[in-house]
Amino acid sequence: MIVMKFGGSSVAGAERLRHVAGIVKTYLERKPVLVLSAMGDTTDQLLEAGEEARLRGKVSVDRIEKHHLEVITQLQLPAQARKDITLLMEELRSLLAGIALIRELTLRTRDYLVSFGERLSVRIAAAYFHHSIHIPTRALDAWEIGFVSDSNYTAAELDRESRERIPKLLFPVLDAGILPVVTGFIARDGEGNITTLGRGGSDLSATLIAAACRAEEAQVWKDVDGILTADPRIVKKAKPVETVTYEEAAELAYFGAQVLHPRAIQPCMKTGTPVLVKNSYNPAAPGTRIVASVEKKNTPVRAITSRRNVTLVDIVSTRMLGQYGFLAELFSTFARHRLSVDMVATSEVSVSLTLDPASDLSTLKKDLIKIASVEIKTGKAIVTIIGNVRRSSEILARAFRTCQLIGVPVQMVSQGASKVNISFIVDDGEAAEVVRALHLDFFESLYGSAAAERGAGGRA
Ligand code: ASP
Ligand code: MG
Repeated sequence: MIVMKFGGSSVAGAERLRHVAGIVKTYLERKPVLVLSAMGDTTDQLLEAGEEARLRGKVSVDRIEKHHLEVITQLQLPAQARKDITLLMEELRSLLAGIALIRELTLRTRDYLVSFGERLSVRIAAAYFHHSIHIPTRALDAWEIGFVSDSNYTAAELDRESRERIPKLLFPVLDAGILPVVTGFIARDGEGNITTLGRGGSDLSATLIAAACRAEEAQVWKDVDGILTADPRIVKKAKPVETVTYEEAAELAYFGAQVLHPRAIQPCMKTGTPVLVKNSYNPAAPGTRIVASVEKKNTPVRAITSRRNVTLVDIVSTRMLGQYGFLAELFSTFARHRLSVDMVATSEVSVSLTLDPASDLSTLKKDLIKIASVEIKTGKAIVTIIGNVRRSSEILARAFRTCQLIGVPVQMVSQGASKVNISFIVDDGEAAEVVRALHLDFFESLYGSAAAERGAGGRA
């Protein structure tokens, strides 16, 4: 079996669903389990409706209802589909009426509220696939295939037993020759309350199912040709990477490549289940395979990303020399201010670290100057090179030479513990130029390995 996940934009309307059906048709022999997101921006619209109800006591779901019913009409679905959707819309209206009445929207209620997006989309999609691909299809809410989570609303995690429950409940459906169409993103806690796995959580639902069922692979269908060597908006010659390791994919996701949520990679990493990132607009393209290990390539670098608008904090201890407890005190200060630190580099007396842009750092500064002298510099960017650590000296040498050649000073460097990530700080305005120059050196020059990347061994 395989798991095929399609996100919100892939199932946004009638035209897109027709297209997805065409793709699914070509994979039927491999026994697909479909995992779908809510259609288009439905999740955001549900959250807006929740706020409308809470703040203004209004129940307004006309836009959501109209869109879903229109799709049903456009796809000429049988009356039952309309009934299913109408029923869910009634439930949604009563929920919003409740929120409007008590003017309160708890996290638990929020999860219940956004769950309607996925519950609506799988019902419509399943009805359409049944009708267009002519195979038995079943819309399934994730809890029907064993998704039981903790009660950490908006960021729930599945319990351990889910791993056994999911295959037990899913395989009989597949064995009966039925195409399961499962809601991404949602689960239910021990008391039966609906929970969600966090925004963008459908990828995670898909990889959880694939790992639990020991699927051949998890396919995540996006609107780009897989993971690219760089952001195509910055580098015109960016091209898809054939294979990356789980660690590399996680680092890429974290450092700004819009591919997969880092959490979504974990379940398949544990079981060694391959994850394939495919382009629904270009299904013939091979996409990117995420696997445990990648055969040697001539290029030491897999991809280059950048994250802009970062703040750099330089801290020089007035008493760090030979002292203990300074770093602990320092980081607890950041924790108290609820600031998440990304990159860190440290020497005996100084620490440099980066933060995402935060609104006001003046109170942080006030606290920090009690223990150190502090300089806060905004307008920086992190450039990250994901590559083969065993060749880190080569990567660093070439990267710094490139920066030197284009006259860009590197302001801080760090190599992540996972050892696949080398990151450095430059001025925000210089980041794009640095990424382009690095891409040229590592992927486009003769010495680099455009040819090797294309030729070496083909796909796994
Ligand atoms: N519909 C949910 C969201 O927009 C989950 C997902 O799309 O993965 O966050
Ligand atoms: Mg979405």
